[in-house]
Amino acid sequence: MIQPLVPRLAIIGAGLIGSSLARAAREKHLAGTLVVADADPAVCDRVRQLGFADVVTQDAGEAADGADIVVVAVPVGASGKVAEVVGPRLKAGAILSDVGSVKGFVVEAMAPHVPAHAHLIPAHPVAGTEFSGPDAGFATLFENRWCIVTPPEGAAPEAVARIVGLWRAAGANVETMSAQHHDLVLAITSHVPHLIAYNIVGTAAHLEETLTSEVIKFSAGGFRDFTRIASSDPTMWRDVFLTNRDAVLEMLGRFTEDLTALQRAIRYGDGDVLFEHFARTRAIRRSIIEQGQETAAPDFGRRAAEKPKHEDS
Ligand code: NAP
Repeated sequence: MIQPLVPRLAIIGAGLIGSSLARAAREKHLAGTLVVADADPAVCDRVRQLGFADVVTQDAGEAADGADIVVVAVPVGASGKVAEVVGPRLKAGAILSDVGSVKGFVVEAMAPHVPAHAHLIPAHPVAGTEFSGPDAGFATLFENRWCIVTPPEGAAPEAVARIVGLWRAAGANVETMSAQHHDLVLAITSHVPHLIAYNIVGTAAHLEETLTSEVIKFSAGGFRDFTRIASSDPTMWRDVFLTNRDAVLEMLGRFTEDLTALQRAIRYGDGDVLFEHFARTRAIRRSIIEQGQETAAPDFGRRAAEKPKHEDS
């Protein structure tokens, strides 16, 4: 019989990402035994009904007992607390990993709880949707998406290879980089765009009542795409901005400088500046499509109604 990739895999947190990884592991037979833990008893009940785990428990420590790999899939702000419970239960050679959207903070929060006989290898699958909870997950979420692995300095190469292997087996393309570099890149590709979406939808909500209802009625003019992003989980995104503060502030500074330049071009009627800027941004979209991270088909928000829409988070 072929040995599964991970004899005992534990996933802590059965939301969108945790349940998607569990579903992928189940479908692709990646784990001998798949243990899922969630602090919420209602989530545990739902996971039992959905049937994608062998063992379901509310106790993260119990889930970690005997596990070869433990993947923490809770909001970034809770990762330290989970590591405190899980750390002392890790067996020799076990790997503690995570899926958090911020990496520097996660390493700081989790590392003190990892015993010397175990390994901490953080990771971030750059894939998601605006939905949360165990029902939101699906096995193909990571297919052809990137997963960034951020091994701390001095990490054991065989432990890094196991986490890379797990994500490749779940369908992802994997790249490794430092936690600091990850946080800077994600600040501009994911965190600031979410903040812009939260802000523009908030601005519309603050308009006088008649204007707000017209914004909703005529939302196809770009606004609708922002509302999708701005409906993302408030706990997750609060934690992202609290824990990736420096990188987000750095990128926001650059963003506001560029916005001021566009504002100036509009004020002085400088069409050349606007045209050149929009032509450059159109080329960036083309290269994203060429790299297979999006399709060229027009969307207008319709595909979101048919199937969960991938999003990089
Ligand atoms: P989610 O759907 O809200 O699920 C998180 C789950 O973790 C919830 O069931 C939550 O229970 C549970 N939980 C919270 N604290 C816990 C604890 N101390 N012990 C055990 N379970 C706990 O969130 P998600 O979207 O999967 O996000 C999880 C992680 O993935 C976050 O770190 C996020 O940054 C990262 N991520 C998200 C995306 C995305 O697009 N959503 C993409 C990539 C990475 P309660 O409901 O009781 O809080």
